[in-house]
Amino acid sequence: VELPPDQAALVARRQAALGPAYRLFYERPLHLMRGEGVWLYDAEGKAYLDTYNNVASCGHCHPKIVAAMADQAAVFASHTRYLHDGVLRLAERLLATLPSEIGHMMFTCTGSEANDLAIRIARAATGGNGIIVTENAYHGVTAAVAEFSPSLGPGVPLGPHVRVVPAPMGRDFGADVQAAIDDLKRHGIQPAVLIADTVFSSDGVIVDPTVLAPAVVAIRAAGGLFIADEVQPGFGRLGHGMWGFTRHGVVPDMVSMGKPMGNGYPLAGLALRPEVIARFGAEARYFNTFGGNAVAAAVGNAVLDVIEGEGLIENAARVGATFAAGLRDLASRHAALGELRAEGLFLGQDIVTEGAPDAARAGRIVNGLREDGVLISATGPKGHVLKIRPPLTFSAENTAIFLERLDRVLGRITG
Ligand code: PMP
Repeated sequence: VELPPDQAALVARRQAALGPAYRLFYERPLHLMRGEGVWLYDAEGKAYLDTYNNVASCGHCHPKIVAAMADQAAVFASHTRYLHDGVLRLAERLLATLPSEIGHMMFTCTGSEANDLAIRIARAATGGNGIIVTENAYHGVTAAVAEFSPSLGPGVPLGPHVRVVPAPMGRDFGADVQAAIDDLKRHGIQPAVLIADTVFSSDGVIVDPTVLAPAVVAIRAAGGLFIADEVQPGFGRLGHGMWGFTRHGVVPDMVSMGKPMGNGYPLAGLALRPEVIARFGAEARYFNTFGGNAVAAAVGNAVLDVIEGEGLIENAARVGATFAAGLRDLASRHAALGELRAEGLFLGQDIVTEGAPDAARAGRIVNGLREDGVLISATGPKGHVLKIRPPLTFSAENTAIFLERLDRVLGRITG
């Protein structure tokens, strides 16, 4: 793709300065300048409807969250080794959204760190080391976590203590996890954890709420723990309370969270059952320079205020239902739209040709929507699932804009 000279210059500077491991979205990359609510604006002032970024879950640059961040930064910004009310209030408020079995809240800056910490704690608690994940899972970037993030691809090898199980689509997930447990044991590895998204995201947006419970029973029977990765579904996206695991009827041993927790500020964390950290707490100590700092805590509290004050969970349920109904209606006119899996404002739309997964077509749709001012992405093991995760402030009008533009793009590229 031929880029205009100013864009080509930015791409060249980016490659020179950031090196070869970074990847850009889109054949014609976006140069974003500013965001407001559900909209992003590029260098030419063109507006894009953001239906992808699940970090800015309360809307881009929410004024109350920005004000809380700036106000606290002007007063005091330091770590968790001094007494400070903000981080305690945030911990207490988050714990109040979780089942009573979960009693502590620890803070990190990223979801990767939260999962990394969870694994260290699980090793201490169980004496085991074996980790079970779904075959296209993504849990983060640290050396330990990359070893159990198969979606990073064959260039990032899985650890010898890691077993993958097929994504739970039309399969007995409990039986698959049991087989992985048996295989770990056969290799002399004691199972430590099953870690899973509560809506399986990079596995293709799988929302079935019946799959996790039997697998959690199996891992516990083997002496291991269950970590719910709520980095994507958490903080109300599904329109059922704050957390995805509730739909599965399980109480995790640990819950990792991040992305929407700071609405753009790096804030993440790990909630856990007290008994799980008893051993780790006695033998190790935990300190994270930036995790839970006073500014992060102010941001986290403001995010909770906005979710509650603006009724965002109810909005996710209501607008999500409208969105799904609109996509099903479009599917009756466009054969490219296959199965839809949706819960609240977390939607996965299969793109097919004659019923078969078609990643190339999904890519053309993603790029076509970008030209028409709508941002989404594609995911899943076959790359053919449109991943749709707008801010929870998305309205019925925003949904109508999305559907109208998708209709147009489908007519243009597949008609
Ligand atoms: N878990 C899941 C399910 C994620 O989607 C991500 C980020 N894409 C992470 C963990 C890691 O979070 P972070 O990028 O904040 O380290």
